[in-house]
Amino acid sequence: MKTRIIRWLAPLGPGLLGLLLVAGCATVPETGRRQVMLVSGAQATQLGLSSFEQMKKEQPISKNAAANALVQKVGQRIAAVAPLPNAQWEFVVFESKEANAFCLPGGKVGVYTGILPITRDEAGLAAVIGHEVAHAVAQHGAERMSQEILRQTGGELLAAGLSGSDPRTQALVSLAYGVGTQVGAILPYSRLHESEADEMGLFYMARAGYDPQAAVEFWQRFSEYNQQAGGGGPSFLSTHPVDSVRIRQLQQLMPRAREEYLKATGAAR
Ligand SMILES: [Zn+2]
Repeated sequence: MKTRIIRWLAPLGPGLLGLLLVAGCATVPETGRRQVMLVSGAQATQLGLSSFEQMKKEQPISKNAAANALVQKVGQRIAAVAPLPNAQWEFVVFESKEANAFCLPGGKVGVYTGILPITRDEAGLAAVIGHEVAHAVAQHGAERMSQEILRQTGGELLAAGLSGSDPRTQALVSLAYGVGTQVGAILPYSRLHESEADEMGLFYMARAGYDPQAAVEFWQRFSEYNQQAGGGGPSFLSTHPVDSVRIRQLQQLMPRAREEYLKATGAAR
């Protein structure tokens, strides 16, 4: 971990997406990993909220009552155990053939109808929502944005403040969250972020009272779907490659996750 302190004193633009960079690091809950964090939680949340409002205007929202009820139910149960401070939880089912889902900072969760045949049941959906919420709790989008700021500035001062209308800010936002000009095109997270979200998400679903084994089964079904569909396209497929490492890691975590699950369900009965 580099200890170089970045202090950005440039005056900020007034734009909606104006980023006030604060020097520092953060620690990911659950895994304890230290991460570079140059974007505050409040700023990330604001970006998440405004991006989600934009998506709701531009993407058709599903009127399927059963799908909506299921996503609300599972979402609320995951939200109840996920440490996302100041979240304004919202769960929306978007009508789309894409097999995808996401959680923006601020607790804004989108599930595409295209993934529901693969999640299959409540526990399968909990695996996906748990995973996506974990990305938000671990601030992976903000971390990616911070890394990009470092890359673009060579770790030194930025010459000027970035405002919302600045194309560089827009580029950072779409890099971090995959939203902006191309709504719904969610960019791949790194393998580290994927692995971390798998681990955290597994414990969230278990604590929410869902059998964590369902996560392994979901990823196996997803792998089959991936092979049949042949990958490609801006979907969960391309952002969430399934491989033996992913499945093996989940299986290694299973004894601990199972304990959490038994604790959660034992207390509930
Ligand atoms: Zn992911």
